[in-house]
Amino acid sequence: MSQQEDRSEVWERYRDIKWLMEIIDLPLCLDRLNIEMSKTTGLNWEGFCPDHMLFKGCLPSDPRWYINTDTGETCCQTEGRGSNILFIAARLLKIPNSQRVSEEDCEKAISFLAGRDISENDISFLRTQSLLKRISCPKKVSVTPGKRYVDEIEKGMKTGYLSSQAINYFLSPVGKPQTNINIDTLKHFHVFERTTGKYVNRATIPIIMMGKVEGFVAIDILGKQEWIKLHPTLEEKDYRKTVYPGLYAGFSKKDIVYGYDECEKNADFIILTEGAREVMKLWQEGFKNSLAILGAYMNDEQILLLTKLAPKKVVLMFDGDGPGRKISQKVKERLEKLFTVEVVELPDGVDPKQLDRNQIHFFLEKAK
Ligand SMILES: [Zn+2]
Repeated sequence: MSQQEDRSEVWERYRDIKWLMEIIDLPLCLDRLNIEMSKTTGLNWEGFCPDHMLFKGCLPSDPRWYINTDTGETCCQTEGRGSNILFIAARLLKIPNSQRVSEEDCEKAISFLAGRDISENDISFLRTQSLLKRISCPKKVSVTPGKRYVDEIEKGMKTGYLSSQAINYFLSPVGKPQTNINIDTLKHFHVFERTTGKYVNRATIPIIMMGKVEGFVAIDILGKQEWIKLHPTLEEKDYRKTVYPGLYAGFSKKDIVYGYDECEKNADFIILTEGAREVMKLWQEGFKNSLAILGAYMNDEQILLLTKLAPKKVVLMFDGDGPGRKISQKVKERLEKLFTVEVVELPDGVDPKQLDRNQIHFFLEKAK
């Protein structure tokens, strides 16, 4: 299974390019980018990896690079590296060429591929158009996590083991303000602890979509030094990373919103947050209509899922800090053509996990 682009904010924003694929002339684009193709029939076309040199320092010897003509996703089998045509165009158009791709590089590459100037407003319009098409013809959720992971998670859910260290982590995470997420809430959400294997010393939160386990969020429950010392295989860079099976097994969070199964349909409002723990805390405080987008960007599939719940209103409640406000602004831009959207502005340094019922009510009122 191929490794995806670095999970940067730019990649999150431009990993889904179906809206772009709908307006470009792919054969012409490949030709203009000097990409040599060996097969251009069917859904997956085949050719020579165009940015192989940048990553491997040599030209590809065989045509083992594939592009999905529907999604624009690409894969170099020699490298085991996945990407998409937009990122590749952005790389090839840079002078000098380089691996790193910025927001501006993507904007330039979009105009190049489309063969005309495309503004930020156009992008927003195209995304919504593409989405509206798919709302009338909903695509089925197509996540296939490795069976071994599913078995392990289901087994863990049954045992439900949680050490006092894990409970303490949720109650008052190291170096963070108190959250008061209690043991009953953890049990309700099937949180369990991994005691062996890759995710040892982590609290594991299963992600259940339509009755099926589709992945998990794993959070280390120890301090940094202890974690490195006790962890059998992983290196420092993996510290505290939230993981999903599919980084290794073809899973992506794109068809997932945390809390989906529990969320009421046709509710007066749905609260949208960043992470699973926010959903837990809001649920604990009596707000059962909470969902988490699990990251810094909301993609089309997640928005489709939200439309299926048909809330009368969507309330955004992200962290009261720079990144949180940025996410909030971006999500608002994506949602306001489809829903009534309200934004809760939390004070600096405050995140939803710290709030009790009364405080949540206060901020909800203020957002109106
Ligand atoms: Zn390659």
